[in-house]
Amino acid sequence: MKKYNFNAGPSVLPRKAIDETIKAIDDFGGLSIMEISHRSKEFQAVVDETVALFRELMNVPEGYAILFLGGGASLQFCMAPYNLLERKAAYLNTGTWANKALKEAKLFGKVVEVASSKDANYTYIPKNYIIPADADYFHVTTNNTIFGTEIHNDIDSPVTVVSDMSSDIFSRPIDVSKYGLIYGGVQKNLGPAGVTFVVVREDILGKVSRKIPSMLDYRTHIRENSLFNTPPVVPIYTVLQTLKWMKSVGGIPEIQKRNREKAALLYAEIDRNRLFKGTAAVEDRSLMNICFVMNDEYKNFEAEFLQFAVARGMEGIKGHRSVGGFRASTYNALPKEAVIALIDAMKEFEKSH
Ligand SMILES: *Cc1c(COP(=O)(O)O)cnc(C)c1O
Repeated sequence: MKKYNFNAGPSVLPRKAIDETIKAIDDFGGLSIMEISHRSKEFQAVVDETVALFRELMNVPEGYAILFLGGGASLQFCMAPYNLLERKAAYLNTGTWANKALKEAKLFGKVVEVASSKDANYTYIPKNYIIPADADYFHVTTNNTIFGTEIHNDIDSPVTVVSDMSSDIFSRPIDVSKYGLIYGGVQKNLGPAGVTFVVVREDILGKVSRKIPSMLDYRTHIRENSLFNTPPVVPIYTVLQTLKWMKSVGGIPEIQKRNREKAALLYAEIDRNRLFKGTAAVEDRSLMNICFVMNDEYKNFEAEFLQFAVARGMEGIKGHRSVGGFRASTYNALPKEAVIALIDAMKEFEKSH
């Protein structure tokens, strides 16, 4: 049976990126890419090309370093404050991941939560909050993977913006110059699990008074071009193949167009279909993680619909336990036909209920 991959992460990858990785695992200049030295000139070239293509596609200005590290976005929750928090930091609380980031920052200094949507189970993005001008930085989670909300515009801030973009990186154009630090795990939109991307403006570093262990100091990794220690070689190679695929289809503008189209189709069906309703505030709806539940009078059919959809090849559409219902993750590499298959399943289910 054909499977449609709606997993929230790790998640769908372009088939071409998988095939190219298989080839390199089989034969990368006579050896497998799994058994070459990370210090070989062949792998240096992979890192250089990945950085260059990342920079080109995302339009990263001069003065910013691009790093590929281990530890996941979760390590960045502590690494960012370790490197940047001296007096106080400001955080926007938009969900589970934002909370985890905030919790780690508290280990390093004073943290203010400028606004929160906890009062409504994070179904919206707080607006009209004030960012303290004396904060060292302001942290946001641009896409809330679990609750299906997204900040659709770059933020104007009086202080450095630090952003967790794990689940919407490369999904739309961003103005990198408005951010000091952008980070995320690659396993949603860029590659397989195992590598973390970091885009950092170099002039924000070196300003805290604490001692920083080498591995946790961004400057170490900048100096060593992400090769201070052994990086995740194979995942980085797959990231390169994913970036090449993105470029081949037309880069971020085309990806954004596709994402908008997929999300518009699915939200339209959620709004039309009498069985379902969306959970996120309409203006804050994520284009990456589409959360929906059954209308109250049909709640009893949730398990049945899940089974019905799984039998038609829908993979990973069960909602996160903190929201319930369903979540269809429509990341960059998810083909439109997957969304159409899900919509067809929703329509068919409606007819019989
Ligand atoms: C998945 C996710 C994380 C966690 O990433 P890890 O690489 O597993 O640490 C953090 N933030 C957001 C927004 C995520 O979607």
